Amino acid sequence: MTKQEILHIRADFPILEEKIYNKDLIYFDNAATTQKPRCVVEKIEQAYYHINANIHRGVHYLSQKATEAHEEARTTVAGFIHAAKREEIIFTRGTTEAINLVATSFGEAFCKEGDEIIVSLMEHHSNIVPWQMLCERKGMKLQVIPINERGELDMEAYRSLLNDKTRLVSIAHVSNVLGTINPVKEIIRIAHEKDIPVLVDGAQAVPHIPVNVVEMDADFYVFSAHKIYGPTGVGALYGKEKWLNAIPPYQGGGEMIATVTFEKTTYNVIPFKFEAGTPDYIGSTAFAEAMRYVQNIGLENIAAYEHELTNYATTRLMEIEGMRIFGTAAEKSAVISFLVGNIHPYDVGMLLDKLGIAVRTGHHCAQPLIDSFGIPGTVRASFAFYNTKEEIDVFIEALKRVVGMLS
Ligand code: PLP
Repeated sequence: MTKQEILHIRADFPILEEKIYNKDLIYFDNAATTQKPRCVVEKIEQAYYHINANIHRGVHYLSQKATEAHEEARTTVAGFIHAAKREEIIFTRGTTEAINLVATSFGEAFCKEGDEIIVSLMEHHSNIVPWQMLCERKGMKLQVIPINERGELDMEAYRSLLNDKTRLVSIAHVSNVLGTINPVKEIIRIAHEKDIPVLVDGAQAVPHIPVNVVEMDADFYVFSAHKIYGPTGVGALYGKEKWLNAIPPYQGGGEMIATVTFEKTTYNVIPFKFEAGTPDYIGSTAFAEAMRYVQNIGLENIAAYEHELTNYATTRLMEIEGMRIFGTAAEKSAVISFLVGNIHPYDVGMLLDKLGIAVRTGHHCAQPLIDSFGIPGTVRASFAFYNTKEEIDVFIEALKRVVGMLS
């Protein structure tokens, strides 16, 4: 993408004009959440001002408009990840709720004492704890795929962990700490040889690389709107129709039922079976708007530009003495985790903040991974398509100053 195009894009994000302690904001915390383009915020306003009414049951005009918007959003989300059917998209509160849904409902239907679930060392807590809770409930075991020194999955170890007791593999598409893009297609192919389903946590993938759930043959794929320039509080679970029909509802309430008597309740068809209560139909509408915005720029363009930014930042970071970068995988997304010498990551983050630069510090909700390095945490800079090389230059000069002060 050209400089002109990036400037054009930046103009869509009013927050990038903010001054932080009188300094230009440099926002490098995109892996935690992304900023929102004007069209997404305006979509929320328009929806509340012009079509707000509870969906699905209303015969009146507004209810029908709001229902149409929510259902069109489902079609947009399905198209974005190339799902075969729109009914395979369930709106959730985000990635975390989507994984909890599968851990609970799939766990209820298909797991028993002695069974095993496979995750990897680089998972976010939201792809560890729901499985741990399932394991505690059912007397099951969590198996963990190790990683190599570059932060790539040990595929041999993965193969050897799969066995007759394995019920499901749940793996990040892209690591939020290391940036590693995992070979999910290969991971799924290997699991499917043994008829084991795979859930892919796509929270850090959908904003950065093209995703095709049918081509990768994922059984479940989950992500959050707020990490892809959409609103907070909404996300999606993709599930193959056969699985969504085979597992029980996650929550009970309105919308998810077909009939209710005190003797027996029957459940609605998918996707409604998994959307108990009033869904965030305004959020889903804005989520779809964000996806259209991203699609207009083009994920291939985004991936290429962010790759350029990440390579540039990596090269410039290596100018700094004592620099240690965690995650040097051959296939890597727009995330750089690092430490400088023995300087505590919080100190670096706090001083960078005073210079207007937002980075994240700590364990990034991946404590087992951070513990495995024997470090207290890292500083993480994560990029989006509205970031620039000029911002990286300012960041590097600021970081040199900070390191000078703390050394
Ligand atoms: N999985 C990964 C890889 C993440 O990076 C995150 C958030 O940082 C999550 C899951 C959880 O997403 P959310 O908090 O939106 O549910």
